[in-house]
Amino acid sequence: MSRIRLLPDTVASQVAAGEVVERPASVVKELIENSIDAGARKIEILTRRGGISLVRVIDDGSGMDRDDALLSLERHATSKIRSAADLETIATLGFRGEALPSIASVSRFRLTTRELNAIAGTEIIVNGGKIDIVRDGGEAPGTQVEVRSLFYNLPARRKFLRSENTESRNIEHQIHLQAIGHPRIAFTLLRDDRLVFQLAETATLSDRIRDLYGSELLERLIPVDGNASAKVQISGLIGQAGLSRQTRAQQLIFVNGRAIESSLITAAIREGYHTALMKGQYPVTFLFLDLDPGAVDVNVHPTKREVRFRDVTGVREAIVHCLWQTLERSRAEWQEKFRAPAALPPSVTKVPAPAMVERQLSAAVSPERAPAPYRPVEFAPRPDLVPDNRKEPVVGVADPGHGRQAVRSTHAAPQQFQIIGVLNKLYVLMENADGLVLVDQHAAHERILFEELQRRMEEQGVPAQKLLLPQTFDLPPRDSDWIERNMSILQKMGIGIESFGPNSFKIESLPSFLNVSDPTQFMRKVIDDLKSVTNNSSVMRLGEEMIAKTVCRHAVKANDPLRYLEVEKLIRDLLECDLPYCCPHGRPTMIQISLAELEKKFGRKV
Ligand code: ADP
Ligand code: MG
Repeated sequence: MSRIRLLPDTVASQVAAGEVVERPASVVKELIENSIDAGARKIEILTRRGGISLVRVIDDGSGMDRDDALLSLERHATSKIRSAADLETIATLGFRGEALPSIASVSRFRLTTRELNAIAGTEIIVNGGKIDIVRDGGEAPGTQVEVRSLFYNLPARRKFLRSENTESRNIEHQIHLQAIGHPRIAFTLLRDDRLVFQLAETATLSDRIRDLYGSELLERLIPVDGNASAKVQISGLIGQAGLSRQTRAQQLIFVNGRAIESSLITAAIREGYHTALMKGQYPVTFLFLDLDPGAVDVNVHPTKREVRFRDVTGVREAIVHCLWQTLERSRAEWQEKFRAPAALPPSVTKVPAPAMVERQLSAAVSPERAPAPYRPVEFAPRPDLVPDNRKEPVVGVADPGHGRQAVRSTHAAPQQFQIIGVLNKLYVLMENADGLVLVDQHAAHERILFEELQRRMEEQGVPAQKLLLPQTFDLPPRDSDWIERNMSILQKMGIGIESFGPNSFKIESLPSFLNVSDPTQFMRKVIDDLKSVTNNSSVMRLGEEMIAKTVCRHAVKANDPLRYLEVEKLIRDLLECDLPYCCPHGRPTMIQISLAELEKKFGRKV
């Protein structure tokens, strides 16, 4: 007797539901997608007990007639594609015809729907996949789906649900994704009968972000430069350098309007941010990629969260390029704040009297020991180098005794800022056109050293200094391999090292900017640090990584008192950097507190 049997439809649906409906948030996602596909302008979501007890989604979309409503509960019934060829050009969020039957098979399900001009609507009640009632319904045009007691008939599944709070958070995240992806649709969320948010329809993404996350976040976002590539249109907003989060919750990526998760894109975003992102942190992105539907396959997974790109490299490069350009442009705009004269009412400008500035600054210099001078980057002068004017700003009016400084660099408009003092031997307080600026002198120095060395490395290699006594040392075989493979990069970085027998090496020179007392120990540390760098990083990246790691230890530290002119030079050098507002590890170098923010804090303005 044959042992193979066709599964009854309800069982097949329950099996499929295992993939489509993981948790209440998946129900919410699928129902909202259906509403969006049905052309809804307004979607209302209500959940109870983390969506486990109830999820209700009401829309004002097209609605269905009775036949369609019944058909929509059949497996593989969809109005969105007709043939396999249509998969090439999917413009809707749904297309698999799986969601409704799957959800209905694992819950107590009620669908009411009515087309705009229909006299009556339809109500269908399904329990565990079995249609129990079909009758006329009297709801407003549109569709309403109620999902109660999710997984009531699959106790094993129910056990996997997390706490109500966690499930609610997942649901909220899903709605955020959809709301950001569709600013023109109004969204309302009620949780346990309490209003969580009510988003009016808006014209732009910015408005939607403000409504959802507040204007404070919006102010720290920059619109992306869209002309990255002919094949991929990139738009949206991304966080400025230095803005990051501990989780990926605000790293939103949309491909042709669909919120997706993609390690490829995540990696490309990381690469685009490069050193503008703090290690272990996630950038904030509201990134929209639009490409020919034929160039992307969304039919990868039942949840439609993953996509495959035909031209992986093209997409990757477009994103990296676009993000880098965007951050670069934002730097230029940002620098403007230091170019325009600090515009304060006359009564305020008088306050930092010259004497006071002097006093505050000298207070930061400890009298008992000679202050460590801020040395920008020390290299032996090399006559073969092309002179680089960019890094040699000419001081215009720089008289620390006379209030506001106008500092001039040769290639751009004068930079105007005024140093007020140094707080806690670490934070430089300054004033610019926008208001108050706080600079972390250690982070600032790291950034300056980093860019300087990076430039040297790309151009002709970091200048090295011969050791008086070359040192030999042994390494375990794995580390020896690593050195052998990366010998030429080390050379470029100013580390002269060569083989000296099996697993033994000789250090002959080190970067001249370093002040290393124990070269062997230094090398072991470098290897340890760099081995952990991801293996896919390019040669230059490895070099940068090593620089980033080493400059940190050699930059001006907190508590290193600086003289006024050193502080001023530090700030000027910082403003000349490519990415002045964060250190090579992505920590902010400076914080701007605008006058408007101060006014708000002091209750002068609401
Ligand atoms: P899919 O969305 O992949 O087509 P679903 O099972 O989610 O599959 O839905 C089946 C069909 O039911 C859809 O193709 C659509 O025609 C119809 N439908 C579902 N939800 C709605 C809704 N909210 N408004 C109008 N039609 C809907
Ligand atoms: Mg659907």
